[in-house]
Amino acid sequence: MVRAEQVHKSFGRLEVLKGIDLEVMPGEVMCVIGPSGSGKSTFLRCINHLEKINAGRLWVNGHLVGYRQVGEKLHELRDREVAAQRREIGMVFQRFNLFPHMTALENVMEAPCRVKRKAKAQAREQAVALLDRVGLGDKAQSYPAQLSGGQQQRVAIARALAMEPALMLFDEPTSALDPELVGEVLEVMKQLAVDGMTMVVVTHEMGFAREVGDSLVFMDGGVIVEKGTPREVLNNPRHQRTQDFLSKVL
Ligand code: ATP
Ligand code: MG
Repeated sequence: MVRAEQVHKSFGRLEVLKGIDLEVMPGEVMCVIGPSGSGKSTFLRCINHLEKINAGRLWVNGHLVGYRQVGEKLHELRDREVAAQRREIGMVFQRFNLFPHMTALENVMEAPCRVKRKAKAQAREQAVALLDRVGLGDKAQSYPAQLSGGQQQRVAIARALAMEPALMLFDEPTSALDPELVGEVLEVMKQLAVDGMTMVVVTHEMGFAREVGDSLVFMDGGVIVEKGTPREVLNNPRHQRTQDFLSKVL
């Protein structure tokens, strides 16, 4: 579902990703951990076309991200083609980014109506079902300001799902939440995983990584230091850098 080959990304002279190789299989939940500044968000942003890679190759759902290959040559995709690729990917950020002037229901209906030109009635029906799925069936008419952080984040997940993505990216979806609200969001993510969604999750929630993750990647300094099952990486880290990091967060 995701394949990265020697992905490099620099901002000016700062090299942030220094050759990332990884593969996420359909239905897999990959968790990504690592210290601040190690390039986790940048990597997700490259997958989601928010940043352009400088070298290497990146595929999502069988498509080369941002390019079309003709023979040996790479041609940049047009905006419309990039938009089509991005529609296959749902992303949930640390901050909820809901439209404040729209109800929960309208937030979830917005993209299907505007981007997919879905009929209103059909989009509404789907949005109601999605809000139900994230446990917010009774909050459809609430505005973001009337919802808790955990509820807003669950609306954000429903909104991403409304585009029927093949892949969901989560960038520390619970780090901005009060501790007592973290569980309800993780529970929705866990259900999504059980339902077979392919997910890449940057998180500090080691319990989630251990329980829900199929694989765990430890990034540091723009490289993947270690990758394995959560049990392997968390119980028997092979590298000193992983051990040092885990000793601080576990
Ligand atoms: P955190 O855990 O704090 O979220 P992270 O692993 O997600 O960290 P990134 O946000 O990917 O780290 O940032 C990696 C490095 O790239 C940092 O040094 C950051 O300052 C730098 N960086 C990120 N985005 C940009 C940008 N748009 N322009 C310049 N530098 C950037
Ligand atoms: Mg980050």
